[in-house]
Amino acid sequence: MEIQTEKITQLIKEQIEKFDGAIDVAEVGEVIKIGDGVARVSGLENVMSSELVELPNGVFGMALNLEDDNVGLVLFGESRLVKEGDLAKRTERVVEVPVGEAMLGRVVNPLGQPIDGKGPIDTPHSLPIERKALGVMARQPVTEPLQTGIKAVDSMIPIGRGQRELIIGDRQTGKTAVAIDAIINQKYTHNTDKPVYCIYVAIGQKASTVASLVGELEANGAMEYTTVVAANASDPAPMQYIAPYAGAAMGEYFRDGGKHALIVYDDLSKQAVAYRQMSLVLRRPPGREAFPGDVFYLHSRLLERASKLSDDLGGGSLTALPIIETQEGDVSAYIPTNVISITDGQIYLETNLFNSGIRPAIDVGLSVSRVGGAAQIKAMKSVAGTLRLDLAQFRELEAFAKFGSDLDKSTLAQLTRGERMVEILKQNQYVPMDVEKQVSIIYAASKGYLDDLSVEQVSDFESGLFNYIQANVSDVLASIVSEGKITDETSAALDKAITEFKQGFTA
Ligand code: ATP
Ligand code: MG
Repeated sequence: MEIQTEKITQLIKEQIEKFDGAIDVAEVGEVIKIGDGVARVSGLENVMSSELVELPNGVFGMALNLEDDNVGLVLFGESRLVKEGDLAKRTERVVEVPVGEAMLGRVVNPLGQPIDGKGPIDTPHSLPIERKALGVMARQPVTEPLQTGIKAVDSMIPIGRGQRELIIGDRQTGKTAVAIDAIINQKYTHNTDKPVYCIYVAIGQKASTVASLVGELEANGAMEYTTVVAANASDPAPMQYIAPYAGAAMGEYFRDGGKHALIVYDDLSKQAVAYRQMSLVLRRPPGREAFPGDVFYLHSRLLERASKLSDDLGGGSLTALPIIETQEGDVSAYIPTNVISITDGQIYLETNLFNSGIRPAIDVGLSVSRVGGAAQIKAMKSVAGTLRLDLAQFRELEAFAKFGSDLDKSTLAQLTRGERMVEILKQNQYVPMDVEKQVSIIYAASKGYLDDLSVEQVSDFESGLFNYIQANVSDVLASIVSEGKITDETSAALDKAITEFKQGFTA
């Protein structure tokens, strides 16, 4: 999956031709300096920020630095095709990408051009990659859950449609896995009247990693409703820079049509690095960690585009799961703090937990969802209400108990409960779980039904219980979904089913 300069050029030309007359020869400048993927051009006095500028030999640039006497362009093509003294024409257009249903199931580059070898994409729609985020009057608070299918997330860090939830952690802590499971879980929404379409933006990853990820999405039937936008590590920095905005435009198409979309930016640390590289070449003054001063704006204007629209505007939503990679757990570095402050909460993944087999390796104490609780279904709220706090207390007790001091009965009971809670919140990759099943097992654990089982038995108990419930009292699960809460009858039926199953299990 490599980006080919010629094809990109062709695509941009086609886009421009669609709006014929847009190329106005009225404003033509001259290249005064060229090199390192950047051109300086004088004479383009009215050029807009992010505007496409046409250079000779089919090379296009994007205006980034607007200065008094010249403009800095980052180039999408090869800079050796351009030389000093060449003409540069304004196109009066910002970069656009094709959007629409036809993009689903496809892998594209940040210009929306297919790189999956499945032929051209035929869509009548296109949108500029940079769009102003909507104001507060156009929005409403989140009300509908975005189920990730991950027990630990849906129970303790619930996400609502239209929310921005950061996934943050060191390398190899399962960040991508959380996001991919969330995408795979959206499959169930396509049997409802509010399906969630997905966009996965891969930034600065190896082409082979992206290819195997697409394979997993395909194998799990998730590509049918997903677009993958890939700007790989080998692609030019400007491509990695624009990839998230291009993906956002594709998501906004659904949002603005009153539909629902989920977008994953994997990851924004690499986008920031690409932006830093471009900025240093453009000779913008480096600031903290050598990032340019406007690096906050890089991510704030992107994440502001995730939103839940007001009913007047159709009530559509765009949920964003940005990913940030930390170095040795340092969440106070520049880019992590920026993105933490822009999002509505974070899922913090921790190396030690990951290595000790607690996967997903979510640090419950540092993870939070500031708005999603409003969207959580009542049934989950009632069983998982105190889960976060209990687990945090358990972690403290656990550390304390390591000193081997005598523990009183209630402390021991708390430890027992906590260990089993930790066990049921473990979950493999690619097996997202329906919310009603999540509710049942958390119900069982929080009511103490697992306390007298050994920790090793917990996962067998869980799968056995689901089989039992489905075979014998499947209407209990159905009622959790339809009622949205645990009624007295449901509660009694669950108690009965769990007790009956447990008799057979322990016998
Ligand atoms: P990177 O920093 O390289 O992008 P990452 O943080 O995105 O890594 P992943 O690639 O998602 O991490 O996961 C790292 C490894 O852990 C992968 O091999 C993945 O299969 C495995 N893994 C992730 N989540 C789980 C899980 N819940 N259960 C078992 N294995 C998992
Ligand atoms: Mg990853």
